[in-house]
Formats: sequence, structure tokens, C-alpha cells
Amino acid sequence: MKNIVIAIDGFSSCGKSTMAKALARNIGYLYFDSGAMYRAVALYCMQNNMIQEGNIDIKALRSKISEIEITFQADPETKNSITFLNGVNVEHEIRSLEVSRFVSQVAAIDFVRTEMVDRQREMGKAKGIVMDGRDIGTTVFPQAEMKVFVTASAEVRAQRRYDELTARGDKANFQEILENVLQRDHIDQTREVSPLKKADDALLLDNSHMTREEQMEWLIEEFNKLTKEC
Ligand code: C5P
Repeated sequence: MKNIVIAIDGFSSCGKSTMAKALARNIGYLYFDSGAMYRAVALYCMQNNMIQEGNIDIKALRSKISEIEITFQADPETKNSITFLNGVNVEHEIRSLEVSRFVSQVAAIDFVRTEMVDRQREMGKAKGIVMDGRDIGTTVFPQAEMKVFVTASAEVRAQRRYDELTARGDKANFQEILENVLQRDHIDQTREVSPLKKADDALLLDNSHMTREEQMEWLIEEFNKLTKEC
């Protein structure tokens, strides 16, 4: 069976990463979290005083962007992907609400996207990958053989994010999270470069009322249909 590229795009906090990870594990593909790359760049800006009064120092970031090293390694126990920023494990930090507050602003910068998209294409060269994000099916891999666009209501997504943060012991406020989800939706959909939108040939998956098991069944069925055709 030929290896393919699977692009999973959609709104914030609709379970794309969990779904993409589980799908990759199920079919023996590699998983790449493109959002983690934008989160790592946002964290880099925060660590290097490139954000003042909510504004990003574009000039300083432009001069450093090619030096920001973002790599992934599998956790030996859980096998989950861990994000490293310039050699340091930042997996926990990049999921904080502080990073979530700035990430969409950072991801809307044209040279940040150009750099990340180039790196993502490199990762997908050998195929046999599942990558999730916002523009994977539209910009990064427009030729991807399988494209899924995931959505769920904003309230359901905020609740999932709230559960995730509290489960790992972080303080969380539902209203704050809901506002962040809505704000990121707005920035992601209205930015000039690669706005979030469903590719014409993407399959639509609204998982508001689906269990993880139902979702996986649906994905595997679609994957089997597509790979039979390839
Ligand atoms: O997927 P996740 O929520 O971790 O992504 C964080 C942010 O990174 C998104 O809100 C979006 O602004 C940005 N992003 C993007 N393009 C991608 C992946 C993520 O603009 N391919």
C-alpha cells in the first residue's frame, strides 16, 4: 500500500492533535504537530523580550527566525511527541494560556509562516505522515491525498481545553478560555496569509457530539477507502 500524506486542519481545541496522534499510531505513520511550532516561536518571543505591551518586535524576530531550532522527539514512555526549542524541552510551557494568548499573532506574521511551512514540507517529504494545523491541506500540502477539516462548537471546544488544563493541574477559568478560543478563531480566519479555511477537497468532520472511538472509526474508514484507491 502506498504511503500518503494526511492533513488535519480545523479550529482551535477541537481535538485535532489527539485525533491525529491516535490515527498516526493506528496506521503506523509519523505525527507532526504544526501548531507546536508556532507555539514554540511565540514562547521564544516571550523569553527574549520580543513582546512589549502586547506587540511583537517584528524586526528582532525577523533577524532571529532562521536560528530558532524546533525539533520533536518521542517520549520514551508515552510515545507522545515532545517539542524542543533550541534543545530545551518546552512541551509543557508551550501549552500555557500565556503562549495561547500570543500564538495567533505570531502565526499571522508572513515570514514566520514562510519559514515554518518550508520546515513542515521538509518533514513530509517521505510521506507516511499525519500533520495537523490550520493550513496543512490548503498551503503546506495542497496535494495531500487525505484532508480532514475538523470543527465543533466554541463552547464544546472551550470545555475540552478547560478539562485538559485542569487535568494536568493548571488553574483554568472557563470564560477566559472561551474568549481565547473565539479570539484565536477570529485571528486565524481573518489573517492575510493562509487564513484558516476548509480546502475544497477536504472531508468535513464535526465532532461536537462524537466520542473519540466513533471519530477514530470514521477516520480509519476514510483512510481505508482512500488508500484502496491510491
Ligand atoms: O493547534 P494549536 O492550537 O496548538 O495551534 C496554535 C496556534 O498556532 C493556532 O491558534 C494558530 O493561530 C496557529 N497555527 C497556524 N497554522 C498552523 C498551526 C497552528 O496558524 N498550521
